[in-house]
Amino acid sequence: MADFSIEPEFQDQLDWIREFVKENVESLDLAFKGEETVYDKSGIFYEEAIRPLQQKVKDAGLWSCHLTPEFGGQGYGQVRLAYMNEILGRSQFAPTVFGTQAPDSGNAEIIAHYGTPEQKAKYLQPLLDGHISSCYSMTEPQGGADPGVFRCRAVRDGDEWVIDGEKWFSSSLRFASFLVVMCVTDPDVSIHTGASMFLVPTDTPGIEVVRNVGVGQEPLGHGSHAYVRYNSVRVPAENLLGGEGQAFHVAQTRLGGGRLHHAMRSVGALGRLLDMLCERALSRTTQGELLAKKQMTQEKVADAWIELQQFRLQVLHAAWVVDQKGGHGARREIAAIKAVLPRVYRDAVLRTMQIHGALGVSNEMPLADMLMAAVSMGIADGPTEVHKITVARDVLKGYSAAPGFWPSEHLIERRAEAREEWADLLDRMADEL
Ligand SMILES: Cc1cc2nc3c(=O)[nH]c(=O)nc-3n(C[C@H](O)[C@H](O)[C@H](O)COP(=O)(O)OP(=O)(O)OC[C@H]3O[C@@H](n4cnc5c(N)ncnc54)[C@H](O)[C@@H]3O)c2cc1C
Repeated sequence: MADFSIEPEFQDQLDWIREFVKENVESLDLAFKGEETVYDKSGIFYEEAIRPLQQKVKDAGLWSCHLTPEFGGQGYGQVRLAYMNEILGRSQFAPTVFGTQAPDSGNAEIIAHYGTPEQKAKYLQPLLDGHISSCYSMTEPQGGADPGVFRCRAVRDGDEWVIDGEKWFSSSLRFASFLVVMCVTDPDVSIHTGASMFLVPTDTPGIEVVRNVGVGQEPLGHGSHAYVRYNSVRVPAENLLGGEGQAFHVAQTRLGGGRLHHAMRSVGALGRLLDMLCERALSRTTQGELLAKKQMTQEKVADAWIELQQFRLQVLHAAWVVDQKGGHGARREIAAIKAVLPRVYRDAVLRTMQIHGALGVSNEMPLADMLMAAVSMGIADGPTEVHKITVARDVLKGYSAAPGFWPSEHLIERRAEAREEWADLLDRMADEL
């Protein structure tokens, strides 16, 4: 039986997190908006604004809660993380302040899982300490949803691997100290056994950023998603992460948790959207009455609350299944929330935008950015269609074809069988007439 109850001690921690984010972190979102500041750990902003807050989070025992104590985290189960991430999802900077920022959290997870002691010392520890950023470089310009088209190659040359190829949308590369790069190492077998993962320091010769791509209304030429070319980039053999041909195994470890945590944070964003919607409905008057009095506004409020509750419970349930069966055992549940997330998020933004009128679509509200985030959620970490395919295939495993020509629920056959069973009574009832 699924149990989403919150122990009193954990409730105290959630209360602390909520208060801390509201009082200390939300002002960063307003004063220092932008992806750059989230990922750039080199400047005075990080030193003076972020690090002191991170220290307070560490002192409160709430740093990197997704990791096991061995790696400096709290080893929280996913249900607890769901409640925590829901609060962090209300703020752009909160994940950084709490040591759960993607893609670093996922990259840390795979190095913790598959890294050698040397790799952990060199890449994982500074990442966990929040001293460096990392980048995940998998998607290629010719395709992301279908890894079968990946061409970026790594070829063994003595004690080194030589990487040649291109990657697309390698987010926040320009702030990263190292990249996790997926490369084809055996083109003669399926990509699922012919690809390997490499740790590549960003100062390695041959890494060429063709351009940084932005999303939405970021001006052309600005943005944090790198189109990157690897020109005979040489890394030592020991930079292979996991075994040769193990890239998809490694990636799966990272993507499952990442998708779930995105969904948890999105619950927070949906809560924020509901707050904005209700506040506006109770503040704006038209034709002599509050918007909240209009039935079509009430429908929006009801739908917003209902969909938030449905999605929140679905996320908690997926988190609970991960706690019970591990990430692989929760493949269907994780794919399902990833598939439903963009629609629920987008509908919530559009409702809140609509109720705010011109202000809603203006650059004086956070809604346009949230709309772009919602749409991006349907693409990043694999498009919605692919996750629906995962759900459908898994659901279909529990079924088999109809035993005969007609469906099992075909009424003619079922009724005939049922009447056969009740023939005696049916005959006596007919005699009574
Ligand atoms: C904000 C953002 C950040 C990202 N960050 C990273 C990153 O850090 N590292 C990284 O490696 N990648 C990153 N990506 C890339 C992302 O993983 C890819 O965009 C995604 O996998 C889809 O690949 P694609 O863009 O090439 O689309 P395509 O593979 O060309 O797919 C385009 C569309 O085709 C449809 N489609 C695709 N496959 C199917 C199917 N099987 N059945 C039906 N329809 C289908 C879908 O509508 C899909 O959206 C990021 C993307 C975004 C938006």
